[in-house]
Amino acid sequence: MEDGKGPHGSVGRIIKYDRVTSLQQQALEQALTVLDNAYNPYSGFSVGATLISADGRLITGTNFENAAYGSTICAERAAVLQANSMGVRHFTGIAIIARGKSRKATTKVTAPCGSCRQVLWELADLWDGTLDVILSTTEKDMIILTSIREIFPLPFGPSQMLEKNDILQYRKTNQPLI
Ligand SMILES: [Zn+2]
Repeated sequence: MEDGKGPHGSVGRIIKYDRVTSLQQQALEQALTVLDNAYNPYSGFSVGATLISADGRLITGTNFENAAYGSTICAERAAVLQANSMGVRHFTGIAIIARGKSRKATTKVTAPCGSCRQVLWELADLWDGTLDVILSTTEKDMIILTSIREIFPLPFGPSQMLEKNDILQYRKTNQPLI
C-alpha cells in the first residue's frame, strides 16, 4: 500500500515499515514480542505497546485484565507506569500492536482508548506536546503514523493545572540504582 491517507479519513497517514525510523521499527518489533505476554483470560485480546523515550530507550507494556473487569489496565498505561518507575517521563513516541483471540494476523490497526490518550497527554504536555503514535497490524503491512495531538485534540492536561516551575519540576525523576 502506498503512503497516504489512512482508512480513518484525515486522521493519521499510512506509512510503510521501511519509512518509519529504525527506533520506531524496533518499538514495533518489541510490541509484537510482548503481545504473547498479555494477561487476557477474559477477552483474549492482546495489546503490546512500546514507549520510545527521548534518550532512545524502549519500554514495553501489555494489557493486564482482572476478574473485576473495571480493574483491567491497558498496555499503553502499563508501559507509562513501567517507564515512570524507571524514572522516564519524556517520550518521542509509542508503538502499538493488537491481536484478537483467534491470534490471526490482523488487517486493521488498533488505536489507544480515551483513557490512554489522556494519560499519554499528561506526559507529552510536560514537554512540548509532541508524541508520535505508531499503529500497526501484526504483519506490519498496514502502519498508521499519527500523533497524540492529532488523536487527542483540545486536551486538558498539566499546562492547565500547573505553573511553569511545577512542570519543570515534574519533568525530573529519580533514576533508580541498577
Ligand atoms: Zn487504553
